[in-house]
Amino acid sequence: MLRDVNERTHEEACGLLFGKGEQVEEVFSVTNILHSPIRFRMDPQEQYHLFMEMEEKGLDLIAIYHSHPSGPSYPSAIDVDEAYYPGVIHLIWAYSEDGWACKAFVIHRTNENTRILEIPIEIYSDVPEPKTKVENNQQPLRG
Ligand SMILES: [Zn+2]
Repeated sequence: MLRDVNERTHEEACGLLFGKGEQVEEVFSVTNILHSPIRFRMDPQEQYHLFMEMEEKGLDLIAIYHSHPSGPSYPSAIDVDEAYYPGVIHLIWAYSEDGWACKAFVIHRTNENTRILEIPIEIYSDVPEPKTKVENNQQPLRG
């Protein structure tokens, strides 16, 4: 994740974490189709394929990460509005003069109110770096 957010400082990086229970097993970087430094929307097709692939492996969506290249380390109003998956953890990578820091939030939304809860997380170094989904026939453009 850190490598991904650091490589995409011109836009909000985003991705999905899948696993079993509370243990993350797979981390994927997903294209931000808005390519915006203040908003993200995941490529729906990439998302769909990942969901299918992970379902086959018996892994559940545990968390969604995205970056705030110029802060803050807190979900924005839009993040809260667009928190579609109940129970999924929102990881926010925010950049400040101290570098990148990751915080985790659970967003509970009802018609009456919204509660944003910060939760403690541990990031192990053996959590795999994100794999970028590039189809075999779509070589990245260079030059
Ligand atoms: Zn955000």
